[in-house]
Amino acid sequence: MKAVVDADTCIGCGLCADTCPEMYRMEGDKAIAITENVPADQEECAKKGAEDCPVEAIKIS
Ligand code: SF4
Repeated sequence: MKAVVDADTCIGCGLCADTCPEMYRMEGDKAIAITENVPADQEECAKKGAEDCPVEAIKIS
């Protein structure tokens, strides 16, 4: 599984980093995925962070 934050779409609300700090963190006013390849034990957390994003900026594949 991969997680990618679209920086153009991200509005910097910080929700993903609050929901799943193991996978997402803020860098300036945008979120980034700490690692693009989601570790197996972080998949649920990564998905929850993406679901919580108000502008659907996080793509899970
Ligand atoms: S939840 Fe979405 S909009 Fe908010 S910081 Fe994360 S990626 Fe950006």
